Amino acid sequence: MGLIAIDLDGTLINNQHDISQESIKAIQVAQNDGYEVVIATGRSHFDAQKILKGVGLSLYTIGANGATAHSPSGTNILSIEMPRDKVEAIVKWLDDAHLYYELFCDDGIYTPKEARNILYQEIEDARYTATEAEINFMSFHLEKQLGQLGFVFMEQNQDVFQGRHKIYNILAYSFDKHKRQHGWKTFKERKDLTLVTSSPFNFELGHPDASKGNAIGYLAKVLNKTLSVSMAVGDSGNDTSMFGAVSHSYAMANADDEVKAKAKYVTASNDEEGVAQAIYDFLNRIKIK
Ligand code: CA
Repeated sequence: MGLIAIDLDGTLINNQHDISQESIKAIQVAQNDGYEVVIATGRSHFDAQKILKGVGLSLYTIGANGATAHSPSGTNILSIEMPRDKVEAIVKWLDDAHLYYELFCDDGIYTPKEARNILYQEIEDARYTATEAEINFMSFHLEKQLGQLGFVFMEQNQDVFQGRHKIYNILAYSFDKHKRQHGWKTFKERKDLTLVTSSPFNFELGHPDASKGNAIGYLAKVLNKTLSVSMAVGDSGNDTSMFGAVSHSYAMANADDEVKAKAKYVTASNDEEGVAQAIYDFLNRIKIK
């Protein structure tokens, strides 16, 4: 038997910030068939597991884009830290570029105390040129971003570099396209980092060994599951590493064309039960085989 890896935002979570009963039912059907259902997200594990608990789900969770994995009861089984000196240099770069960022650590999401003002200001600036629909889209994403569990507001960046915390991932966020592109270009060629995106407004940096795809491979080994009868479903650039790791990959209808091109199949959107459809499609394909 294999595993079923599901991304959260834009995939399992719909645009009402909710997980549908239909999705939960499909997950239970797959579990009853013997599949291990795994969540793979850019979110912190504590944030993701709180969301799952809210709808009565208890699942293996790959967090911080593959830097962590936790058992359903919350035991850590994978932990890929970013080197401290590297984080320090990146943070300095982000500060200089006046970018909002979050450091995903084992015990919280650390962000500079005043950094949110950068995002509020960027939305204000966008009002000069953006349409009302575009502003609403930004506000929707901002609400999601700031609604994560476990924020710790830093007085000084140095707090986090003292050695008490494990740093898994750095997420930079901006409503200013030029700032995002500048960051993307700066870090794109770095072989000592992974660079992915999970939203229209962010880019995320991690350890080069940390990816959702690698973490799935690790979990499959630990749980004795077969990747040649496994599926993954997601909507963003940080999901394509999973697509390469499993036999059956599904992009959401709401994914970018670039992401769709890397998946074997395209399922419905996150507002039209795309996850449930993908799971049933996968189970059927395996049965027919
Ligand atoms: Ca996503």
